Amino acid sequence: MQSFWTKFKAGVARFMQGRYGPDQLGLAVIWASIILNLAGAVSGSLAVSGALNLISTVGWVWAVWRLLSKDRQKRFAENQWFLTRWAKIKTPVMQAVARFKNRKKYVYFTCPQCGMKLRLPRGVGNVTVKCSKCGHSFEKKA
Ligand SMILES: [Zn+2]
Repeated sequence: MQSFWTKFKAGVARFMQGRYGPDQLGLAVIWASIILNLAGAVSGSLAVSGALNLISTVGWVWAVWRLLSKDRQKRFAENQWFLTRWAKIKTPVMQAVARFKNRKKYVYFTCPQCGMKLRLPRGVGNVTVKCSKCGHSFEKKA
């Protein structure tokens, strides 16, 4: 005699067979939906929270639909597309966070020639900076 739980798990496994399941894009959509929902709740405006709830619901439905989808190749391709975009967004955001964290330790500036982001330890005084990307040398006070 199988327990209810064993049957339930077997049922879920059978149902999920051949289906795509969760991935990074699915999780990101679910997180975004939760955040939009919360943002709507704290906005204090009925119109804003209504609109955000609607987007959030669409996000949930889409995420669940992807999870249960049987077209695994297409879902995989969507996830790859998302990961490429995400990497492009994430790097500058992480850099900005690092600059903010280290703002008391370093002076941040860009190379006047190529725009490369450079930094100097605060308090080094007047120094000649050589850009690590284009090799341009210039005076900088830090
Ligand atoms: Zn440069």
